[in-house]
Amino acid sequence: FQLKNEDLVDIKDLGSGNGGSVKKVEHLPTKTYMAKKTVLIDAKPSVQKQIIRELQIMDDCHSKYIVSFYGAYLADPNICICMEFMDKGSLDGIYKQIGPIDIDVVGKIALAVLEGLTYLYDVHRIIHRDIKPSNILCNSKGEIKICDFGVSGELINSIADTFVGTSTYMSPERIQGAQYTVKSDVWSLGVSLIELALGRFPFSKSDSDDESDSDFEGTLSPSTMGSLSLNDLHVVSEEGDEQRPLPPPRRRPKKSETTKKDKRRSKGVSLEGGGMTMSILELLQHIVNEPAPRLTPEGRYPKEAEQFTDACLMKDVDQRMTPKDLLKHTWIEMSRVSDLDMEAWASTF
Ligand code: ATP
Ligand code: MG
Repeated sequence: FQLKNEDLVDIKDLGSGNGGSVKKVEHLPTKTYMAKKTVLIDAKPSVQKQIIRELQIMDDCHSKYIVSFYGAYLADPNICICMEFMDKGSLDGIYKQIGPIDIDVVGKIALAVLEGLTYLYDVHRIIHRDIKPSNILCNSKGEIKICDFGVSGELINSIADTFVGTSTYMSPERIQGAQYTVKSDVWSLGVSLIELALGRFPFSKSDSDDESDSDFEGTLSPSTMGSLSLNDLHVVSEEGDEQRPLPPPRRRPKKSETTKKDKRRSKGVSLEGGGMTMSILELLQHIVNEPAPRLTPEGRYPKEAEQFTDACLMKDVDQRMTPKDLLKHTWIEMSRVSDLDMEAWASTF
């Protein structure tokens, strides 16, 4: 069927990111609930049409690990993308509601995301580019599916000019300007899985040994990242384009040494809120220069899970495995045969 704005009635807001906002809507002719994503696009009509054309690739994406696509249309100056409504929402919202997610559930999530990534890449040569908990969705059947993958190059270009919101899940090689590969998605998956198991974004002061990482004044949550300074990122991408490595992290004076003036000066390049202060540049430098995050404390989680996340978070992209290879990992095979009831899990929240 052909989707039209007038056939869709708003039910409720589901949330918004930097790229746009998402609403639960009902498609009246078919009485179907959908998630409608509205993206403001500042582009010429020809580019807008190109985006709509490119988005139609999603029509051919059929996998139980990928959110179904109902259609996309132009509602100038917006582009609307209608997809399967996932009634339990995204995993960031879920862990913020219920706390750290049981590692066996995280294993099932890892399996689903790897299956989804492998399908997208093997069948369509699509690299996701934006794996993070808010793009991994759950429904009351306990199904886990990924959404918001990069099918449209033109859409990526149009949005890239107006926002950059995913840098925290970005791999070291991407920060340094290398091309996206499926292995960049694997890094983002590793960061996301640790976040789900720990119940917090894994780059934070408490992980760092007190000296080199004294920069971190608290956890930088993914939601805070939404407000990151674009100027900072432009600096990084310019350097990255020239394949120049980032400089080593700048030592910041210890908290006690920090004067008011320092605070004020750093304000322009840092994110503040809820007592958290951290410069985006410092986070990007941390990802590039410091050891990758790990499932900690050691021994709390099955060793297979530790090995798996370590494999996802190999900083050297040549040593990192592809989604397809990781599907054969012991932890994933364990998750596959586990009789854990995801539907029962999803009924607990
Ligand atoms: P960003 O814009 O940085 O990618 P995001 O993924 O949080 O961040 P959106 O993609 O706009 O932003 O999604 C906003 C919220 O809408 C998500 O956090 C998710 O909870 C919800 N959402 C998105 N798609 C669906 C869907 N198909 N079904 C149910 N909820 C959804
Ligand atoms: Mg999203």
